[in-house]
Amino acid sequence: MDAVSYLSQAERHCAQRGCRLTELRRRVLELVLRHDGVVKAYQVLADLQRERGPAAPPTVYRALDFLVEQGLLHRVEALNGFIVCEHFECHHDGLFLVCQDCGRVLELDAAQGLSSLCAATAQLGFTIAPQNLVLTGTCKACLA
Ligand SMILES: [Zn+2]
Ligand SMILES: [Zn+2]
Repeated sequence: MDAVSYLSQAERHCAQRGCRLTELRRRVLELVLRHDGVVKAYQVLADLQRERGPAAPPTVYRALDFLVEQGLLHRVEALNGFIVCEHFECHHDGLFLVCQDCGRVLELDAAQGLSSLCAATAQLGFTIAPQNLVLTGTCKACLA
């Protein structure tokens, strides 16, 4: 999906949920879309400051939080950054495949695999907190 169609879908998605993709939130999303793979909050902040001069960090962090809440971004704790969700509000915990060579990130819908993992941990009486898991490896392009 290209950035333009992603943004218009994102706008519709927010409208359906009764919230607004304000100009700033939209711009932050646009900046995240420009990066390939994982983006850190400070990178988005730096991009925004390059465009508009000093922007207060909390403004950017709030916009990122909003985008996570709306299911447009995933926060990936293990990578300390954000990834665009192509699925619009996945109902599964994310599983991300990160290429160690080029940094490309793929999102895998592994709901089934994750539920059997949860079942196995439940047998130990352990409850896994909702989180986005990361598997590192080599992508198809780098392998070729
Ligand atoms: Zn997703
Ligand atoms: Zn790669």
